[in-house]
Amino acid sequence: MIKYFIKIPLFILFSFSSVHLIGQNWYMGNTHAHTKICGHADSSPDVVTKWYHDHGYNFLILSEHNHFIDPDTVQLPPDKRDDFILIPGEEVTGSKKIHTTAMNIEHIVSWDFNHEQKAMIIQNHVNGTNSAGGYTILNHPNYKYAVSVNDILPVNNLYLFELFNGHPAVNNSGDSLNMSTEAMWDALLTQGYRIYGVSSDDAHYFENIGRDISNPGKGWVMVNAPQLDAMHITQAMVEGKFYATNGVILNTYDNSSIGTYMVDIDINKTSEIISALNLWGKCVIQGEPGFRVEFIGPNGEIVSSVNTTKAAFNSTKHYKYIRAKIVYTVVDNTAECTMREYYAWVQPVFSSP
Ligand SMILES: [Zn+2]
Ligand SMILES: [Zn+2]
Repeated sequence: MIKYFIKIPLFILFSFSSVHLIGQNWYMGNTHAHTKICGHADSSPDVVTKWYHDHGYNFLILSEHNHFIDPDTVQLPPDKRDDFILIPGEEVTGSKKIHTTAMNIEHIVSWDFNHEQKAMIIQNHVNGTNSAGGYTILNHPNYKYAVSVNDILPVNNLYLFELFNGHPAVNNSGDSLNMSTEAMWDALLTQGYRIYGVSSDDAHYFENIGRDISNPGKGWVMVNAPQLDAMHITQAMVEGKFYATNGVILNTYDNSSIGTYMVDIDINKTSEIISALNLWGKCVIQGEPGFRVEFIGPNGEIVSSVNTTKAAFNSTKHYKYIRAKIVYTVVDNTAECTMREYYAWVQPVFSSP
């Protein structure tokens, strides 16, 4: 396939302390989906692509296990919108249950490297993906509790990981022995490891829909990029110009500096998308219905929490980083749970360059 990936040195790409939005071009995308090519999913690449197209997404990565699906081989819907693209990728499904999405690659990335240190395996995925012209997303670290914070800290050139993955077996919330992926994020950020959180589907089943089935439409990213093409979307994500969500949609946000950190929730689009995608949210036993904006700093400390739909961070104290989390709580009152929560996670901003 023809691909226009411009290699830009990393030191030019990254300016972590000042992430500025570019206009208001927001692109909805899923970086993780499977097809029947892997042998344990139910739909063809064409059908999977059509599902995302028909549900309003702007981009999709067909991230097959150790198999490169060239977007040029996929039959796109006959009524394809101009604002929908496939970004070439693969799920590098490696040793010791370490999986990574190789985003915007030109060719397949090898997966069979093994090493007693998991950090070395992750590094091998990153290096292979960079050599293929792309960037790595570390997938579902809590799947089989394969990847810990200490496995990530030594890895270079890793800028993205799955904070939320929609597959029912990935343990996003952790358990009594293992921290949640969100707590892992704060542990990494607190130790100075700058990494951005992605939300994805990891969808396998498009025919049967159920709460415990890895269906599409559970987690996605909203990317702020100057235009919709593989290179600009990938570049915007590694620069942190996006938010991760499993139901909450924003009008906008500003995280160009800690002092200007602001989020503005789109109430109507949030309600619309929760019903359009049949989202279930996270079951919780108590909570206050409505929107809550939390600003979170080192060690995961919630330094500000306001029940509102538009909030700005306001503090004179020094923080190494601040990130924002939006919680939308709705009454459920079923036998299963009394409340359900949906989230958006806006990327951290750092006090030092
Ligand atoms: Zn995986
Ligand atoms: Zn997967």
